[in-house]
Amino acid sequence: MKYCSNCVMPDSKPGIVLDERGYCNACRSKEVKEKIDWDERYKELEGIVEDIKKAEHPFYDCIVAVSGGKDSWFQAMMLAERFGLKVLCVTLAAHLPTTEGISNLNNMIKDLNVDHMKITIKPSVFRKIRQKCFLRQGEPNWAEHCAMFSSVVNTALIYDVPLVVWGEDIAFEFGGLQRSDSKPSALAINKSDLIKEKTIHDWLDDDISDRDIFFYKYPDYQKLQDAGVKSVYLGHFVHWYGRKNYEIVKERGFVGRQAGPLPGNFLDYDNIDEKLCEINIWFKYLKFGFWRATDQCCYDIWNNRMTRDEAVDIVNRLQDEFPGNDLSDFLNFHDISKEEFWDTVEKFRNKDIWEMKEGQWVHKYPLLKQS
Ligand SMILES: [Zn+2]
Repeated sequence: MKYCSNCVMPDSKPGIVLDERGYCNACRSKEVKEKIDWDERYKELEGIVEDIKKAEHPFYDCIVAVSGGKDSWFQAMMLAERFGLKVLCVTLAAHLPTTEGISNLNNMIKDLNVDHMKITIKPSVFRKIRQKCFLRQGEPNWAEHCAMFSSVVNTALIYDVPLVVWGEDIAFEFGGLQRSDSKPSALAINKSDLIKEKTIHDWLDDDISDRDIFFYKYPDYQKLQDAGVKSVYLGHFVHWYGRKNYEIVKERGFVGRQAGPLPGNFLDYDNIDEKLCEINIWFKYLKFGFWRATDQCCYDIWNNRMTRDEAVDIVNRLQDEFPGNDLSDFLNFHDISKEEFWDTVEKFRNKDIWEMKEGQWVHKYPLLKQS
């Protein structure tokens, strides 16, 4: 395991390749971003918007998937206010929302004054799929990533909406398994690193039948093309920076986590909508030796807000914190015992990265400052 010489991303993250300078994929993307003609890209987006307006769609011009988080608030604001499109916001409802998550989503809809549709997927099925995703691949949030991408795009098909807008392309911004050049189309978002090659059909068994999974099934690409549904990453057309989005929507009523950053976090406004995602992210620490603090610090390094040495201090201070605050909710929701939980933790602990020393698991590759 080696760390990027520019940020603090380790090459244990799937898909990360350090180049001859020791730079990771995301640091290379940052260099690409600096050379992009953003005025030109913005004009491309204006062209797409003009075409949609001219076509005078009967219902909505565009769907924006929203959680009430800083980025989706910013996206919906751009499309509804800057471009004047008839926006339908669609939310895949969180099953265990936080107080801040509920209030941010409500405030956002009020602030933007847009129509909003909330899709709540059948709880018993969602619980079962999450439970299987947790026990079998240590990644319970696969279930909502799958349902979110599919339900939003299905809604566009059902309501004949010509455009679906997502935020940033994670492969380009953060580096990963997918090819990492910036691309406008998000049509294949159902094959992104959050989903990989799996589909909902891989989880069907005696508990989960085909009749219960409509909103998890991503439509056929050909069907989307025939229906004229475009799906794009806003981050391809405008210079994307999550912290800037946060600063903009904070002025509009977005609130960070009232009790301060979650365990292991450096920021108080990142993924604070619901209670089930922190354990999912913490499993990256077991599998790949890094998690939230690394992601958040890297992001600030890429955007010239933090030095590598500062990041090393923050990551080393925070990454051993365990996100135990919502653990009982997590166990209850998935109907698993504490023993099953800790057995699963050990099942996914990567022994290439972790070693037992004097009765304690120790990270074999500490993050160090460059001499
Ligand atoms: Zn890097």
